[in-house]
Amino acid sequence: MHGRPAAPATLNNPTPMSETRGDAIVIRGARQNNLKNLTLELPLNELIVVTGVSGSGKSSLVFDTLYAEGQRRYVETFSPYARQFLDRMDKPQVDAIEGIPPAIAIDQTNPVRTSRSTVGTMTELNDHLKLLFARAAHLHCRGCGKHVARDTPDSIFEALAGHAHAAGDPRLVITFPVPVPKNFAESEVRQLLERQGYTRIHARRDGLLEVVQDRLRFSNAERARVIEALEAALKFGQGRVNIYPLAEGDGGHPSSLVSDPGLTRYSESGVRRLEGAQAPSSNSRLTPHPFPWRYSTDLHCPDCDIHYSDPTPSLFSFNSPVGACETCRGFGRVIGVDYGLVIPDESKTLREGAIRPWLSESYRGWNDDLVKYAKKRGVALDTPWRELAADARQWVIDGEPGWVSWRKSWPGKWYGVGRYFKWLETKAYKMHVRVLLSRYRAYTSCEACGGARLKPDALAWRLGTKDDADAVLTPDQRFLPNGVKFGKDVLARLPGLALHDLVLLPVERSRAFFANLHLPAPMDEAADLLLTDIRARFSYLNEVGLGYLTLDRQSRTLSGGEVQRINLTTALGTSLTNTLFVLDEPSIGLHPRDMGRVIGVMKRLRDAGNSLVVVEHDPQIMLAADRVLDLGPGPGERGGRIVCFGTPD
Ligand SMILES: [Zn+2]
Ligand SMILES: [Zn+2]
Repeated sequence: MHGRPAAPATLNNPTPMSETRGDAIVIRGARQNNLKNLTLELPLNELIVVTGVSGSGKSSLVFDTLYAEGQRRYVETFSPYARQFLDRMDKPQVDAIEGIPPAIAIDQTNPVRTSRSTVGTMTELNDHLKLLFARAAHLHCRGCGKHVARDTPDSIFEALAGHAHAAGDPRLVITFPVPVPKNFAESEVRQLLERQGYTRIHARRDGLLEVVQDRLRFSNAERARVIEALEAALKFGQGRVNIYPLAEGDGGHPSSLVSDPGLTRYSESGVRRLEGAQAPSSNSRLTPHPFPWRYSTDLHCPDCDIHYSDPTPSLFSFNSPVGACETCRGFGRVIGVDYGLVIPDESKTLREGAIRPWLSESYRGWNDDLVKYAKKRGVALDTPWRELAADARQWVIDGEPGWVSWRKSWPGKWYGVGRYFKWLETKAYKMHVRVLLSRYRAYTSCEACGGARLKPDALAWRLGTKDDADAVLTPDQRFLPNGVKFGKDVLARLPGLALHDLVLLPVERSRAFFANLHLPAPMDEAADLLLTDIRARFSYLNEVGLGYLTLDRQSRTLSGGEVQRINLTTALGTSLTNTLFVLDEPSIGLHPRDMGRVIGVMKRLRDAGNSLVVVEHDPQIMLAADRVLDLGPGPGERGGRIVCFGTPD
């Protein structure tokens, strides 16, 4: 480095300052730690590298003086009330600092200890994804996997055109369901309906009347008439309409209340199966299609009768009570009995004491119970645990079915190891019980959400098309949420990815997913902006060599270098300007291959109107700097002076 020396400063005299300019940070008389009364000007909007031997005063100048003052002034812009909650740094030992912008330190300290902080929350990508899911994701029923969307008279009309054509243009009965309230007789409800002009019931099942709105053949009906009928049916049916295609040869007359004693009855399980389906048709003048075409203006799956709530952003956040799994409260893990610790040696038999906690003398009685009941029920006592049948193991752990309580069921029914631990938990106020419990408990993945941290309804929403998803994640690797009623085969056919798929995906593949993502048209401006922002953030992360991380990765498991590079990309993503960024050795832990890209990110921050002061030794980064400040010449007392300050060439 052949910088031009900042001449007078090396003599340790105050630099004769040009008039204080608006485009530089002016430091006068810095004496923090070993700094020798330094006075210098750091031009704004540059990438400045501060270098020197260890202990030469780099950190004293950059962090203890520059950053401390920038932070102190920033905190002072808050109200006195807010200030009491913020960390305030000591005023540095310096005569004056002028022209300093608000400062942000991007260093390697990882202050995070909570498992709620992940790469996704650090990068703010989780926040962006929850907004995008709320706007652009599509819902798939957790019962059947079918797409769930709000129907409108127009969308139903379009769907009917297709269905009616495919079914050979049958006569259609447009009906709406009306429930018969518990304290009403059916006749009373019918009277009310008749007063509104509805005299015909197409079908009834327990507690529900299917009231005829209109009957028509799709090909003969005017669009206006169909739409009008649908609107009226949706209004009286509280957002539901069921349309029955009639088989050819059916009577052309609607079933009227008075003249139709053989009203079609449906089984209690719903309308899926006709009670009289196998009965001779002479019994009934109507042979309706057993599956009506069902539509709903709610987020409601008509086939499974499941209602879904609106996709608000908080539904997609595990840090919100709205979205967080109720069992693990968004942690993804729960503390519970770890049976790997309870039965550490699977070659042991029950008689030998396979159940570890019952091996010690003071808990022997529990094992005696086990042996006694195993004999009664014919559970093998001398077979190693690993060779016991699955139902025998389950018997040992879960106890016997029909267990009610200790008072009612014991003795008489075997309680099981699980209930022993539940009983222990009620005694956990005793120290020795707590110690015992702690030996057999561990964090395990939450069974309710499968570690996804979110409620089942949040995981029913998916983003993108099938091709978008297939390009980055093979169908068999996709997350099957707990509690869905369909299997991996149906999951594989669903379009798009769920939020949990995305947080488990390495950043480089997420970047590819969002780069090619197809969102349903028309896309509003806000979704468009969000997508642009998400794409940029994934690209930045990938650029600084973090493409292997997943958003789900917990912050506390990251290295200092990873934390710093994540924070660097987050700063870039927030579009801050007029800010002073101070960095501590961003080259640490970085593959030389990725160095150029980190430099690129720092230059982009600078070009966005920010100033960067970087403590660094790496020659590549020094060469890329606008200016290099060399402190020294030695460590400690022999340091604290400006050796040279200039451009790196
Ligand atoms: Zn469904
Ligand atoms: Zn959970």
